[in-house]
Amino acid sequence: MGPGPSPVPQRVYEALGQPVVGHLDPYLFGIFDELQALLRKVFGTENPYTLAISGTGTSGMEASVWSLVDPGAKVAVLVNGFFCDRIAEMARRQGAEVVRLEKPWGEAFDDDEAREFILREKPRVVAFVHAETSTGVLQPGKAICDSAHEVGALVIGDCVTSLGNLPVDVDETGIDIAYSCSQKGLGCVPGLSPITVSPQAVAHLRGRSSPNPSFYLDLGLLYDYWVGRKYHHTASATLFYALSEALAIIDEEGLQNRFRRIEANHKAFVAGVEAMGLQMHVAAPHRLWPLNAVRVPDGISEAAVRGHMLNDEGIEILGGFGLLTGRVFRIGIMGAGSTRENVLRVLDALEAALAKEGFRAAGKGRAAAEAWYEGR
Ligand code: PLP
Repeated sequence: MGPGPSPVPQRVYEALGQPVVGHLDPYLFGIFDELQALLRKVFGTENPYTLAISGTGTSGMEASVWSLVDPGAKVAVLVNGFFCDRIAEMARRQGAEVVRLEKPWGEAFDDDEAREFILREKPRVVAFVHAETSTGVLQPGKAICDSAHEVGALVIGDCVTSLGNLPVDVDETGIDIAYSCSQKGLGCVPGLSPITVSPQAVAHLRGRSSPNPSFYLDLGLLYDYWVGRKYHHTASATLFYALSEALAIIDEEGLQNRFRRIEANHKAFVAGVEAMGLQMHVAAPHRLWPLNAVRVPDGISEAAVRGHMLNDEGIEILGGFGLLTGRVFRIGIMGAGSTRENVLRVLDALEAALAKEGFRAAGKGRAAAEAWYEGR
C-alpha cells in the first residue's frame, strides 16, 4: 500500500505465465492492436499514436522530453514535487533552456498563475505532473494546455499515478504527450510505459531536422514497430500479455465505476485518519485519491512507524522523500488495491504502529471510516 507498485490481480499473474512468442509474431501484433484500443479508453483519447513503451514510467518521461525538446529550446516546467523536478532535469540534460514556476510541495498551481507564467515565458514546450506521487497533489491541466497552445507550445503531462486511478481525459484537457506506467492505476507489474501523442506532437517529431538522439526511446521508431510491424527491439511478449489482462479487468469494471470506487475508498480513509487526530498534507480540493500523504505527528519517527507496519502486519507504505523526508507517510489506495478491506486494515495498522511510538490517537480510525461507508 505504498505509492506503487499496487497489488496485482491473480489473472495478471496468470497471463505472465503464458508462453513467450517472438517480438514480430502476428499474435503479438494482434495484442498490440487490442492494447492500443484499450489504452485509448483509459487515456480518454482518439490519438492514433497510443502504445506502451518497453520500460518503466521514467522511459515514457524520457521519450517525451527527447522527442519534443530540442537543444536550446525554452521549456517551461511547473515544479511542485520530485517528479516535476526530474522532468526539468531531463530537459536540462537535453540542452534546453529550462524555466521553472515553483510551488511548495503539497500545493497545486492555480489557473491564473500557470497562465501568467506560460504567456510570459512563451516556451516551446510546457511540462507538468498531473498526479504528483511525491506530495499527493492533483494538478489540473486544462488551463496549462490552453495557455500553452495559445503561444504555440506543446504540452507534456505526466500521468504516471493518475492513469487508471482517476480521469485523465487527454483530449479534453489538451495534453500533447501523456505517459504513464503499468504498475499503479492499471494494476499490472512494472515494466511498461503507456504513452499517447497528439497529431500536433506527431507532426513535430516526424518533422525534426536532426534525428532523435535516443534510438531506443525514439517515438517515431516505436510507432513504426507497433503499427508498421518493423523490428525495433525485442519486446517482452509476456509483459504485454499482462498489460492486456490488466486493461481487460479495467474494461470489465468500467472506468467510471473504477474511479468511483477509488474516490470512495480515499474519502473513507481520510475520515479515518482525521478521526485519529492526524492531518492530510494536501488541502481537500487538490488531493489525489490514489496517493494519500498523511502528516507525521510531531516527535514521531516515520521510519519507525513504517517498520512496525511492515514487520507486524506485512503492510508496506512509504515515507516522504526530497523536501518531505520524515514529514509524511505516503499511503497508496490505488488500482486493485483500493478496497474497503484494505482501507480498514491500513487504518488499524497505522493506529497500532503510531501507538507503539507513543502517539495517542484521538479516536478510532476504523470506526470513522466504517461510519463514512455506512453514511454514503
Ligand atoms: N512520474 C511519477 C509521477 C511517478 O510517480 C513515477 C514513479 O513513481 C515516475 C514518474 C517514474 O516512474 P518509474 O518509477 O516507473 O520509472
